[in-house]
Amino acid sequence: MLDEVNYSIRCPLRKEKGWKTEWILLADGIYSEYNVSSLYFGGGKMDKLISIVIPCYNEEKTIDIICEAIQKTMEKVNDFKYELLLINDGSSDHTLKKMQELAKKDMRIKYYSFSRNFGKEAAIYAGLCNAKGDYVVTMDADMQDPPELLPEMLSVLETEPYDSVATRRVSRTGEPVIRSAFARMFYKLINRISDAEIVDGARDYRLMKREMVESVLSLTEYNRFSKGIFAWVGYRTKWIEYENVKRIDGETKWNFWKLLKYSIDGIVNFSNVPLMISSYLGIIMTFISFLAIVFIIVRKMIFGDPVSGWPSLVCIITFVGGIQLFCMGIMGQYLSKTYMEVKKRPHYVICCTNDDEAQKNK
Ligand code: UDP
Ligand code: MG
Repeated sequence: MLDEVNYSIRCPLRKEKGWKTEWILLADGIYSEYNVSSLYFGGGKMDKLISIVIPCYNEEKTIDIICEAIQKTMEKVNDFKYELLLINDGSSDHTLKKMQELAKKDMRIKYYSFSRNFGKEAAIYAGLCNAKGDYVVTMDADMQDPPELLPEMLSVLETEPYDSVATRRVSRTGEPVIRSAFARMFYKLINRISDAEIVDGARDYRLMKREMVESVLSLTEYNRFSKGIFAWVGYRTKWIEYENVKRIDGETKWNFWKLLKYSIDGIVNFSNVPLMISSYLGIIMTFISFLAIVFIIVRKMIFGDPVSGWPSLVCIITFVGGIQLFCMGIMGQYLSKTYMEVKKRPHYVICCTNDDEAQKNK
């Protein structure tokens, strides 16, 4: 058989980037086209299933477009089977209705509808929990994560020694200037104070092998920050860069306060540095107040004037009070996260789905 396999004719690369194929002689005079990598890994590509996870919150205007774009793209890599997991994150518009219509037309589309808005992180988690694919990709519904990149990402995992292909936008054109400035500050800060390296401009658009998905799912924490989790689990990751694409329709779901909360979550989940800062501040303030006491005692003994200077005293009390509240706030953040973790509440509740085997709350 080995001789027969070696008796192969190398074909030029097929249209889809990176697919190397060979014609293999199966029996006398009968040839069949095989993907080289699938020969090496055993089993054809046709055996592999790709799960595409899309969190959707009020995306009635974009959902048809993204599904069509994915269907078109996946036709180009028709050697793979795929399933499309649409997660309705408690939308108040007609997103669910649209999903149900799409699922009626295409058996590969599965929808999972939350009982309320649980947030994008919960939607991604639900998608990963219910995905059955050998490869799993997460992407936004608004076409900001171009589906056209999928064939290239798949080819990387098939032919190169990587476990994951992640994407990063190199520009932020079209985004409000203040949001970009805060985002850059956030990435600088979090990379300084946390162990997990979080790439500036990293999207949640990422293709992963099953092993990596299992590792991501093994982190069952309630407060999820996917960018940090992906970085924390490690694995060999190839980064693909692209220019920022504007949302095709609808509006971003993130206002300033939501983003601020998201960045605080990211920092608290992946770093203990704020707690250390509050301890250091405590030590520094104790030291300063000790010096001040010594200064006041010495001054009283030399000049005998204990009363003057009360305005500065008030300033100092308020200042110290402020720092104390700040430090308590930091501790409160960690305490509240711990409180949510120990409750062990499910990340999401699915109230309506067309997948009989769905994990309805986890
Ligand atoms: N999303 C979600 N739940 C939310 C907010 C957003 O599932 O509570 C989804 C949204 O439908 C989209 C993706 O997360 O598919 C990214 O959202 P958006 O485009 O508003 O974020 P941006 O691209 O502005 O960061
Ligand atoms: Mg978007």
